[in-house]
Amino acid sequence: MGTPGAGKGTQGALLASRYGACHVSTGDILRDAARQGTPLGLEARRYMDDGHLVPDDLVTGIVADRLASPECGKGFLLDGFPRTVPQAEALGRLLTERGQPLDAVILITVPTEEVVRRLSGRRVCPDCVAMFHVALQPPATPGRCDRCGGALVQREDDREDTVRHRLAVYTRETAPVLEHYRRAGLLREVDGTGTREDVARHVEAALA
Ligand code: AMP
Repeated sequence: MGTPGAGKGTQGALLASRYGACHVSTGDILRDAARQGTPLGLEARRYMDDGHLVPDDLVTGIVADRLASPECGKGFLLDGFPRTVPQAEALGRLLTERGQPLDAVILITVPTEEVVRRLSGRRVCPDCVAMFHVALQPPATPGRCDRCGGALVQREDDREDTVRHRLAVYTRETAPVLEHYRRAGLLREVDGTGTREDVARHVEAALA
């Protein structure tokens, strides 16, 4: 859990590979579907580009399908889900049916202005999905992907006004989910500032 730009994707990928768990990022799945132009992707894009949440039943269906896949059989890490109380309730029902409760919920916290700086400077390669940052991780040639040479773009939802809207949505819709997991004794809070390695160490310590 964490606001947009807290580092969920980066830390999620590290953790999933360390534990051999499948990494289920609803944002990545939805972006992928939008790139491929599937009906689900086109529907989702209408919400994502403006920084709104995609409807609960759509996202919950995606997660249920992914968790049922063979590669998630040994364990899974959810990134960017659940983001609303109804999603958390649906997840609870799904996991009860599977007899597989959550081990922990990690909350990565980063101050708002740092989030705005991280996201509004982020650039992505639409061809190979590599990520850069104009100040923190600039490409060797400005505007060009180091990996494949593609022209870098700003994600529609990383524009500063949209980032601020996404943060407001987080406070309204997702913050109550944290309470749900705090009460259940599952929430582990981690400082998300510092390098990727610093944060990974904090996450490991919180899980240990
Ligand atoms: P992310 O990459 O996790 O920041 O997600 C990007 C966008 O995908 C969000 O701003 C939402 O529009 C959509 N999205 C991702 N996960 C969810 C979710 N669990 N519920 C609703 N919308 C989601």
